[in-house]
Amino acid sequence: MSSAATARRSATVRAPAKVNLELKVGPRRPDGFHDLATVYMALGLHDEVTVIPADEWSVSVTGPYAARVPTDESNLALRAARLLATVTSVDEPVAVHIHKEIPVAGGMAGGSADAAAALLACDHLWSVGMSRDELLEIAAELGSDVPFLLAGGIAVGSGRGEKLAPVLARGSYHWVLAVSDGGLSTPEVYAECDRLRSGQETPTPEPSPEMLAALRSGDADALGAALSNDLSDAALSLKPELGEVLASGLEFGAKGGIVSGSGPTVAFLTDSSEAALDLCVSLTATGVAREVKRAKGPVHGAQVVAGPSRT
Ligand code: ATP
Repeated sequence: MSSAATARRSATVRAPAKVNLELKVGPRRPDGFHDLATVYMALGLHDEVTVIPADEWSVSVTGPYAARVPTDESNLALRAARLLATVTSVDEPVAVHIHKEIPVAGGMAGGSADAAAALLACDHLWSVGMSRDELLEIAAELGSDVPFLLAGGIAVGSGRGEKLAPVLARGSYHWVLAVSDGGLSTPEVYAECDRLRSGQETPTPEPSPEMLAALRSGDADALGAALSNDLSDAALSLKPELGEVLASGLEFGAKGGIVSGSGPTVAFLTDSSEAALDLCVSLTATGVAREVKRAKGPVHGAQVVAGPSRT
């Protein structure tokens, strides 16, 4: 592989999953979206996206969830790479490879993480040198969660979740993620939320003072008590088994539990890595969830791990 004829450039980027510590959903807008106020935290569970120049655009996927990821034009990482090429007038198709560790359709924004990773990987491969703000703007075109997965850490999202603002936060937290079978589709969960709230006054969404104070304090008990998700009732209405998952985690001593985004993953907060391991073992033993994982947060957003390089 050393001759110039076989030399290939590539770039690899890792991007994290997310949990919404708080998700306030406003009324349905005329464009069908809802105004949100959300507090995101990036979690240490990563997908890795590699881009390699090729004759044609393509996408391939490996990892435990590969079979559930589309490999056609609907793949979000491929759409991200193509969009950046269009915006920057780069004429170099790439083969996008995703190594997937983030459960698919679990409410942890794995597809958005892949889009964020593909944007950054192509920016490096093509030496585009986009500013952070330019990349965030392109990310917002791809999906509401994509800008946050570029940014990482902890942030408040408004608009559809794509407008980010910093938040004063300290501490590092240990999470346990109970991943259930049968994804809940995000549009269905929002529709159910609208149905359950029909006729009710919906206040303008904003982060709660309790959540902001908990993040400032860095205290897991306070954060556990402040977790809240306006989509929770809708997710539980569509998938009542999630009630059992939530109850089990809290019974086993979690500091708090929450449906992640539109579900069906349930995220539990614990106060140490030992407590997280214990909870993981207990929840696995009950069999209430298909899979139970641990992750720390907050972590960085999408980061280049290799390249551009020649192999
Ligand atoms: P949302 O961001 O809507 O909350 P989610 O986190 O629940 O979504 P994702 O893993 O992002 O779930 O996948 C949602 C759907 O997006 C999948 O069912 C899949 O069909 C599609 N999809 C497109 N590209 C990808 C990708 N690269 N990885 C995972 N899913 C993808």
